[in-house]
Amino acid sequence: MDAYKKILLQNKAWVEQKNREDKLFFKRLSDVHKPEFLWIGCSDSRVPANEITGTLPGEIFVHRNIANMVIHTDMSMLSVLDYAVNVLEVRNVVVCGHYGCGGIGAAMANKQFGLIDNWIRHIKDVYRMHHEELEAITDRKSRENRLVELNVIEQVYDLGKTSIIQNAWRERGGPAVHGWVYDIDNGIIKDLKTSMNSNRDMATIYKLEEKSLPRVTASTGKTSVLN
Ligand SMILES: [Zn+2]
Repeated sequence: MDAYKKILLQNKAWVEQKNREDKLFFKRLSDVHKPEFLWIGCSDSRVPANEITGTLPGEIFVHRNIANMVIHTDMSMLSVLDYAVNVLEVRNVVVCGHYGCGGIGAAMANKQFGLIDNWIRHIKDVYRMHHEELEAITDRKSRENRLVELNVIEQVYDLGKTSIIQNAWRERGGPAVHGWVYDIDNGIIKDLKTSMNSNRDMATIYKLEEKSLPRVTASTGKTSVLN
């Protein structure tokens, strides 16, 4: 049987199983969408957000790309982040990397892969920022694993640099932003203990002031910006 026909049949079997277990399962999901988590993970097929966290449909809002990157010009990531933070009002944002990440491995090499080299360049920048620590690690696998961790930590920090996250921190004290690494060898998620819920510890250059709001002056009808 064609692989694509097989997974459609598996979908039917899954629907039947869910309906057997809980008649209202799909009704509840269609009534409300209020996940508590935004997950920014790697596209790697071995790291499915719901399955490895034992969560169900409806519990995690997901964005995935190669090597779980937070790139400030990525409209797809920014749109997901804005919607998750300002409409869904998620309480937690998780950046989850994984050991054995092909994107991280490619960033540590010098081979050309094509268009993706431009994406991977951002990981090379993380390497450059931490090159002293990384180059002190002689074992290549251990050095790659540490780059996986440092990359997650930098992406958590990059989330904190966005106006979306800083405005939410100011207005409602959340969401908390966390950095995790999944181990594909044993399935365990490691918390890198790099959680942030304010810009208190960020470098001053990244701290954003409250936005000035434009206001129409009643007498002149002109728009001015008030500080
Ligand atoms: Zn990966």
